[in-house]
Amino acid sequence: MHLLHQTDLPGKRRDRILEAAREAGFTVQTAGPDSFVLFGDGDRSALEALPEVVRIDDEIPPIHLARREEGAETSRVRVGEVEFGTGFTVIAGPCAVEDETRLLGIAHCVKDAGADLLRGGAFKPRTSPYSFRGLGVRGLEMLARAREETGLPVVTEVMDTRDVAIVAEHADMLQIGSRNMQNFSLLVEAGRSGRPVLLKRGMGSTIEEMIGAAEYLLVEGNADVVLCERGIRTFNEELRNTLDLAAIPVLKGRSHLPVIADPSHATGAAEMVPSMALAAAAAGADGVMLEVHDAPGHALSDGPQALSPAGFAGLVGKMRKIAAIAGGTGQLAVGNKEIS
Ligand code: PEP
Ligand code: MN
Repeated sequence: MHLLHQTDLPGKRRDRILEAAREAGFTVQTAGPDSFVLFGDGDRSALEALPEVVRIDDEIPPIHLARREEGAETSRVRVGEVEFGTGFTVIAGPCAVEDETRLLGIAHCVKDAGADLLRGGAFKPRTSPYSFRGLGVRGLEMLARAREETGLPVVTEVMDTRDVAIVAEHADMLQIGSRNMQNFSLLVEAGRSGRPVLLKRGMGSTIEEMIGAAEYLLVEGNADVVLCERGIRTFNEELRNTLDLAAIPVLKGRSHLPVIADPSHATGAAEMVPSMALAAAAAGADGVMLEVHDAPGHALSDGPQALSPAGFAGLVGKMRKIAAIAGGTGQLAVGNKEIS
């Protein structure tokens, strides 16, 4: 069953309903700012009598917070002074934070070239445990210093529920990586972190699974979620992944959340990144995330897909021009219908 209560109730009165539902014999889960899901055969009438309760439906709600209602605008997601969902937002930086001098150098380059946010992994998910797995908290501190120096908000990956608090303390936006898109415990903690979240698509995940993952964040009260198409696994062996360009208008049609693309991980090859970044802009993306490194040949991770600072600088204006021409076409493409 689905219990709807008055919106904007202070915490105490919400807790009163929660308690009452438990006392009435239900198992209760939160289902957004103004509702709970009730499981079991409790005493429904005891709850209906509460003044805060608007109504109780027999059905449990479908995924709805992440979906775009017909005619609804794309949500705006603020990260510092940056606003996703309006214009074309560019995130750039190294795959991993390697050392402070290098990070600061790259951060200044991408800022001067027009980036809006700085990226850089301090906790790196690597296929081999012998690969560089990041600097951890020291990397977070370097990111925070790069923000102080450049003014760019920083986004960095969190891989573990135990690290959510420390990452949220240092970063402006938390990234949930492809390998963790359906790590539901991590989604819950990130949803409670008080920080905006960049949710990357699982490399083997469907659009609906991605929307379900976003719902986990939203239901915890975190409205600031940006979706990222980062390539999926296909039979194409030429590139690291296959950029699912059509996922951009599909996601924008199904969800009100801003959608960006990551052509770096989608291709794994720097020479492919500019064309795919421009294609993402043409497909209606609200932005991109691009890996940039000053010495890609020496990068500790993902060097082959890193743009040089000059390559990045040459791309930013072109992406913004194409995005301005394409502006908003994506969300009109599919509407809110499920594809069968
Ligand atoms: C990354 O952005 O550094 C990363 C590891 O991406 P993904 O989770 O998409 O592989
Ligand atoms: Mn990377």
